[in-house]
Amino acid sequence: MNEYDSNRIRNALDAEATDNPAEADIIIINTCAIRDKADQKAFSSLGKYKHLKSNNPGLIVGISGCVAQLYGEKLLERMPYLDFVLGPRAIPRLPELIKTIENEKQRTVETSYDIEELFDIEPYHSPGKVTAFVSVQQGCNKRCSYCIVPRVRGDEINRPLGDILRETRNLVDKGVREVTFIGQTVNSWKENGYKFGDLLRAAANVENLERIRFTTSYPRDITSRMIEAVRDVPKVCRHIHLPVQSGSNAVLGKMKRTYTREWYSDIVKRLRDAAPDMAVSTDIIVGYPGETERDFEDTMSLLEEIQFDSAFSFKFSPRPGTTAAACPAEETVDEETSGRRLSLLQTFQRDVTMRKNRARVGQVEEVLAEGPSKNDPGILTGRTSHNRITHFRGAGTLSGRVLRVRITEGLFNSLRGELSV
Ligand code: SAH
Repeated sequence: MNEYDSNRIRNALDAEATDNPAEADIIIINTCAIRDKADQKAFSSLGKYKHLKSNNPGLIVGISGCVAQLYGEKLLERMPYLDFVLGPRAIPRLPELIKTIENEKQRTVETSYDIEELFDIEPYHSPGKVTAFVSVQQGCNKRCSYCIVPRVRGDEINRPLGDILRETRNLVDKGVREVTFIGQTVNSWKENGYKFGDLLRAAANVENLERIRFTTSYPRDITSRMIEAVRDVPKVCRHIHLPVQSGSNAVLGKMKRTYTREWYSDIVKRLRDAAPDMAVSTDIIVGYPGETERDFEDTMSLLEEIQFDSAFSFKFSPRPGTTAAACPAEETVDEETSGRRLSLLQTFQRDVTMRKNRARVGQVEEVLAEGPSKNDPGILTGRTSHNRITHFRGAGTLSGRVLRVRITEGLFNSLRGELSV
């Protein structure tokens, strides 16, 4: 989502981008507030540009994204060299904002949610890139107890079907072969009687588009109509990212995730029954307030039961204004315990992921070649339908094509293979 927003920021400004901060006229730090660490990172990177301002008083320095939304005005007080604060919804207002700063020499905060032209600015697309994100939704209507997203990104607004298809077609005209629809709870998308499954079917009709991915799905909003679309539409990739967060019903209840462990398992089963080779990945939070050893064991047993292809796992991080952050002190899980749980979980999952990757050895997978690998121009990088990064020997001119690759080696984060005839 942030990558998408950064590329929208780049397009909102009618300016050339530079990698060298010393020659920039405007520096914008786009930020994430999902966990405390991300939030701290935003402050430390801003600090790095302070000295540039003393050399170049005309330099404009701004902060955008969720940290900007969260702290607003306070950021200007805390950082005298900061010129503007821009919330994630307000990106279309950026050009106006820069003009105000230049003309009136006024420091500005723009954090309104109510932006009519919300989806108007589409992201910068690097020439030659064969994959792209397409935003289908902004904000979130769920109220997970730990999550800051609804506060900083506002309520859910769904983008009209026609606009999504237009952006997709434009990208395909520029050489894109795979789009990933993005939204906080992407499968909750609905518009004018259309549901998410209809969006998948409609996008599949875009000529020369080879693949469709989507992220992140909210378990409770998976419907039969969506499962049927995933099953029936060959362009839809065989991978779903489906955050479960915990395997304990007590914790899921406190998190307000609106489903039980059994319900989640059943949804995964239905998805796998419909599309037998479906890869499933997830997100897990350990050390949620009140999480007991027993609760954690339930999470471990769920990982064992489901056999996820991969899992992103995090220590609970209290976020300002969320109900989970206001829990009684005695419920806090100490650092040592959550650290131990995280490492047990990651060690376990590592084995499962390795086993799954090795099991692909000998199989022929369809891989969309994305381009030469950074380290070796003779090696192409792409991804299988299941979202596994795959490296294989091949000419750069094959980029953008879906190729048959025989897998020869399964590593933790990637596969190796060779072109198959
Ligand atoms: N709506 C998106 C949210 C992305 S955040 C989605 O459902 O994927 C990605 C992951 O960060 C979440 O799934 C969750 O596992 C984790 N996360 C969110 N808030 C957190 C917090 N306060 N502490 C620790 N992890 C958190």
